[in-house]
Amino acid sequence: MNTVTQTLRVVHGRQEVDLDAAGKAVTDLLVALGRDPMSEHLIDTPRRVAEAYSELLTPREFNLTTFPNDEGYDELVLARDIPVQSLCQHHLLPFHGVAHVGYLPGDRILGLSKLARVVELFARDLQVQERLTKQIADWLQEHLAPQGVGVVIEAEHMCMSLRGVRATGSRTMTSALHGQLRQDARSRQEFFSLTGVNG
Ligand code: ZN
Repeated sequence: MNTVTQTLRVVHGRQEVDLDAAGKAVTDLLVALGRDPMSEHLIDTPRRVAEAYSELLTPREFNLTTFPNDEGYDELVLARDIPVQSLCQHHLLPFHGVAHVGYLPGDRILGLSKLARVVELFARDLQVQERLTKQIADWLQEHLAPQGVGVVIEAEHMCMSLRGVRATGSRTMTSALHGQLRQDARSRQEFFSLTGVNG
């Protein structure tokens, strides 16, 4: 079968995390916050924080395998409730929730599990939810050239839930659409109703 596989490793322009430098910076942050980084409770904290941020900022590698759409499948393919964990670029606090990602196949189709990997590819970064949503949609449009793409993200932002307005439990919704899902009202409505979102 005419499959196409690419290994996706590095996201364009993103640098690797320097764990030692990040750990030192956390030590400085603890001092600046009036805490003693040498106390027995905090002695391992800089390393742990550096590793936690590194994990949150590093997407796992994956093979993007696409297949020819031999059957001519032309209905919406939708993956619902894909977990999203990301870091808000304004506060370095997490935002998390779910993504619903769908596309109308063109000449090629993608393994369903790969849609979750595409979400992770862009979520593991310093983000704002609007850009994350758009990047996922743009990436699928570019790599799959489908008839249409739709991405909806519902997420709770810790920077809103735990501080500031303290809007606990409130979720922010964003969407990005391309092609037929953008242009055709019926396709768009079908997409939103299958995601459970009122479009
Ligand atoms: Zn924030």
